[in-house]
Amino acid sequence: MENQKQMRKWLDDLNLDHPLVIAGPCSAETEEQVLKIAHQLKDSDVNAFRAGIWKPRTRPGNFEGVGAIGLKWLQRVKEETGMKIATEVANANHVQLALEHDIDILWIGARSTVSPFIVQEIADALKGTDKVVLIKNPVNPDLSLWLGGVERIYTADIKNIGVIHRGFSSYEKTKYRNKPEWQLAIELQNRFPDLPLICDPSHIAGRRDLIFDVSQAALDLNFDGLMVESHWNPDKAWSDASQQITPETLIQYMKDWSVRVETTDAEEYQNALKKMRAEIDAADQSLLDTLGKRMQVAEAIGKLKKDNNVSVLQSKRWNEILGKMILEGEERGLSEEFVLRFFKAIHQESINHQESIMNA
Ligand code: PEP
Ligand code: MN
Repeated sequence: MENQKQMRKWLDDLNLDHPLVIAGPCSAETEEQVLKIAHQLKDSDVNAFRAGIWKPRTRPGNFEGVGAIGLKWLQRVKEETGMKIATEVANANHVQLALEHDIDILWIGARSTVSPFIVQEIADALKGTDKVVLIKNPVNPDLSLWLGGVERIYTADIKNIGVIHRGFSSYEKTKYRNKPEWQLAIELQNRFPDLPLICDPSHIAGRRDLIFDVSQAALDLNFDGLMVESHWNPDKAWSDASQQITPETLIQYMKDWSVRVETTDAEEYQNALKKMRAEIDAADQSLLDTLGKRMQVAEAIGKLKKDNNVSVLQSKRWNEILGKMILEGEERGLSEEFVLRFFKAIHQESINHQESIMNA
């Protein structure tokens, strides 16, 4: 895709000296609630006001949004505060209404990005718009679905684009509502280097005490902006109550976050970095040497097993190794999750090598 630089022009044109911040309630509830929050946020670094009008709820029977009437409330926010306004669209009708009401930023929610049919319907309805379109990651950690979403929007001649990392559902229990997979967001950015990357710490965290740290983690990774849910009375919010923070807290957070620069020419920094990178390169090299040697031994074992007609998989031995490595990893500051993933990958490779010897 050529001319990608176009993608971030909307952001560059804002000429910000801080990360982009989109903030506002999970849902628009009443006109008073929307305006009250907007006025509390207006004299801060918040650039755009968000509020969900049509709410995708996992299960029916919960508050499903105020509907199109909320668009008028957002327009009042723009008139009264000068902030840009943002809302989620999930079908062609939403798009049409949002465009009619001059919504500046439209985002595609996680439950829509999972469906190429819905994304295509939205892309067709948005065709050629100069509004900003942000694509949230799909609910499940599937990079190609997310990429597909970006491609469908870009191909519909929409040039002002960005993506939002809002974490992923996982079967495994974590402290997050939706587990962050920073690597996936970074991979997406590797494919589209000029694509603005925004983090939604609210839907990642699911609870307000984690919002600060998740946001800081995103800023440490050089994300371009944050989308944060903020409500004047979070506990009374009609949706996502546990993850919303007050405008006052958000304004304090914006002062306390450390914003990193992408790089600096400072000689001292460059020299120190060069030295440490050389150390990393050497460590990577010896990791590969060690892995290569390990595979050779695994192959020799494979041959020994074959000669003695013994099966490749020895579960008991393998579980012992894993248990030991988790403990040893812990002593070196490595998480159990990482050690498990790392050794499972090594084990799989060993099995593959041994299998090919067995079948030779
Ligand atoms: C939202 O932003 O309120 C929302 C519903 O988000 P997501 O699509 O990330 O669940
Ligand atoms: Mn929400």
